[in-house]
Amino acid sequence: MQIKKLPALFEPARPILQKIEQAGFEAYFVGGSVRDTILDDPIHDIDIATSAYPSEIKKIFRKTVDTGIQHGTVMILDHGTGYETTTFRTESGYQDYRRPDQVTFVRSLRDDLKRRDFTINALAMKEDGTVIDLFDGLGDLDRHLIRAVGNPEERFNEDALRMMRAVRFAAKLDFTIDSPTLEGIRNHGALLQKIAVERIEVEFTKLLQGLNPQRGLADLIETGLYQYCPGLTDYREALQAFSRQDQWQLITNDQLAWLSFINALGITSRDQVRQFMKSWKLSNELIDRVQKSLQLLLAIHTGQVTKQQLFAAGRGAVQDALTIADFNGWQHTDLLRTFDELPIKDSHELAINGGQLIKDGILKPGPMMGRVLKQLQQLVINGEVPNDRDQLLRATKKLIEKE
Ligand code: ATP
Ligand code: MG
Repeated sequence: MQIKKLPALFEPARPILQKIEQAGFEAYFVGGSVRDTILDDPIHDIDIATSAYPSEIKKIFRKTVDTGIQHGTVMILDHGTGYETTTFRTESGYQDYRRPDQVTFVRSLRDDLKRRDFTINALAMKEDGTVIDLFDGLGDLDRHLIRAVGNPEERFNEDALRMMRAVRFAAKLDFTIDSPTLEGIRNHGALLQKIAVERIEVEFTKLLQGLNPQRGLADLIETGLYQYCPGLTDYREALQAFSRQDQWQLITNDQLAWLSFINALGITSRDQVRQFMKSWKLSNELIDRVQKSLQLLLAIHTGQVTKQQLFAAGRGAVQDALTIADFNGWQHTDLLRTFDELPIKDSHELAINGGQLIKDGILKPGPMMGRVLKQLQQLVINGEVPNDRDQLLRATKKLIEKE
């Protein structure tokens, strides 16, 4: 097979591959970019593999950076752009079920492709678009199959993350996992516990944003692999119900993925949300956003949303909550418009602040100040006092009298 018109991302890298070939070595595009090009899906980065050893690459190109030289990766700098090339290698050891104890540089493309996870990820492409397919990856792309390169049992034993990658690719591409590969996952699920949570999370977050998450989730449940994902052991039914959702096209980013997921699991309290998301090692920023949207989403579900709740969530979280309300088929009014009509959208927009109140000798720093400002904010949000300095000063004095 030869691809006639390569996506633009490959073009500037072609001379690099040509130069390596002119020096007497082999060089190919490999991995996801080749797979996605054949599927006519957009590509986001390219990987280059070569028979040249790192020292040889460094002789061919004047400007290089050792970005991962112990694994055979060298970055070639060309007109301000960096291209990472990785020497063909084999991996052995895998005593910890996740990382090879030893990598060996080799000259054979076949050996390099053999260590890759799935046949559709083991395709190579020359700079002229000729595809090299040693494991019938093209056939599997046609058949829409995720199939391990070689013996799946061995491959999952070497690196347990591959099981999570299998379900992720099933969702991403809407492909079926080949039976022996699926059987391998059934037999080795428990090994996932050896894998760093951060790496499991990356695959799971991608799964939820795939072309058909239903498939990946169904495989995750059916193989039992979900039991070895953080905090999911008791959630089989909720996961199943979640997988049957049919508005997946609405899930377009990480926040929406996690918000829809946590909502589907029925985790509601802020503390439980934090605890669950922490067990997945998610960032505080993401946790904060999901907590905010979830509180609002629950209010939408019960049909009572106050202006204070909208304000507390902030515009982004309001948007997320509305998207997930749609995802769940829940009725709601145009809350984004209500948010946009709030007199203030952020506490900094209040026409008066603590510093000024102190300067004017109206209040001293302390807990009372905090309480008063909070009440002023509420009055403004509810439209009871205009966001105007003089009016707010008057309101402040009244509040102090009541204190
Ligand atoms: P994506 O579109 O998500 O980037 P990808 O196939 O490029 O998909 P990467 O994680 O970027 O996935 O890996 C690049 C390539 O490296 C894969 O296509 C595969 O050939 C190989 N690879 C990655 N992870 C593994 C693994 N755990 N075991 C074996 N091969 C792997
Ligand atoms: Mg990639």
